Amino acid sequence: MTETTTSSGGRSSLPMQGVPQPRRDEVLNLPRVHISSHPVMAHKMTALRDKNTQPPEFYRLVKEIGALLAYEATAMLALEAAHIETPMGPMDGERLAGGIGVTPILRAGLGIAEGFREVIPDAQIWHLGLRRDEQTLEAMEYYNQLPHRIDLQVCYAVDPMLATGGSAIDAINVLKRRAIPRLCYVGIIAAPYGLLKLSQTHPDIDIYIAALDESLNDVGYILPGLGDAGDRQFGTF
Ligand code: URA
Repeated sequence: MTETTTSSGGRSSLPMQGVPQPRRDEVLNLPRVHISSHPVMAHKMTALRDKNTQPPEFYRLVKEIGALLAYEATAMLALEAAHIETPMGPMDGERLAGGIGVTPILRAGLGIAEGFREVIPDAQIWHLGLRRDEQTLEAMEYYNQLPHRIDLQVCYAVDPMLATGGSAIDAINVLKRRAIPRLCYVGIIAAPYGLLKLSQTHPDIDIYIAALDESLNDVGYILPGLGDAGDRQFGTF
């Protein structure tokens, strides 16, 4: 981490200054990384990124993008046979085999989790509070509402911005201590640096994102990105 002295004599931290970052094309074809190519997603992403988009609209878009990501990230779920009666007679249908968990990393992950609930209303929501230390960019756990009894086929850790990868790696570490057969990460925008770190640290998970951006700036924000995803959802500027 680099520390510089500001004009007022205070110390400012520039944790990404001078840190080598992979180029976008170097991480485009990582295994188990899924980048959405849906035109409706691209359309909504432009509205989301626009600096003139205000918090109520921004939150609505995060939910809608979360629902689209949920749709893409649940394409591989296992089904089991379910015999039912339609009004016309008997039929062999299918149901999802086992529960679905969604772990929003607080607070920015809440909007995506709401989008997941639109697609899978009975998904369990496991809140997890991880805060980035502004100086070191290390993730610190401050809140954990994971249940004791676990019966899921998959759990999705959701957080809009995969920047340095610290929170995502930490969240997956927390979830790996539970007996969950399959874990995935779902985000809206990734930087090549965080995407590579997450993929290398947890090569056994699938990663779903809506867009892969260019780089991180010196303080760890994604470029071109969308600014602070938490502040823009909840109006805390
Ligand atoms: N968190 C954000 O909200 N935005 C970024 O660009 C990086 C991390």
